[in-house]
Amino acid sequence: MVGEAMIGITALKSAFDLTKGLKDVDDRVRLNDARMELQQKILDAQEAQSALLEKLGNLEKELALLKSWEADKQRYALTDMGSGVLAYKVKEGHENGEPSHSLCSSCYNDSHKSILVSATWNPGRCHVLVCNDCGWYGYISGMAHAEHKDLRPKPFRGR
Ligand SMILES: [Zn+2]
Repeated sequence: MVGEAMIGITALKSAFDLTKGLKDVDDRVRLNDARMELQQKILDAQEAQSALLEKLGNLEKELALLKSWEADKQRYALTDMGSGVLAYKVKEGHENGEPSHSLCSSCYNDSHKSILVSATWNPGRCHVLVCNDCGWYGYISGMAHAEHKDLRPKPFRGR
């Protein structure tokens, strides 16, 4: 972004320098060349400004999302879900009409809201929590089994 700003400033500075020299130009060909160069410098400055405005708009959207997430994440507390499995569980009284749920701690720390899904994996009738975003899973009860590898979530985020 600083790069575009510098391009715009440089283009305007050289356009300004060009106009200072124009008053001394009496040759029509040189005058036309100077005009065309001046128009190009102005176009360069306008392009740099457009690029800056687009980037600024994108940054404003990103900032709004981050502010929204910062407010939302205060609703959750890091909680032992059982067997030392940690997740961010919605605090009591902060459900905002949603059913009680918990978020993946890895995704949470990456500023991404991913609701954990509860599942039973067989053999062993294991109770697991699964994040379908990053592919994390945690056993709340039961033991890992080789056949569980086919049940593991396939992460789609961060690929
Ligand atoms: Zn996750």
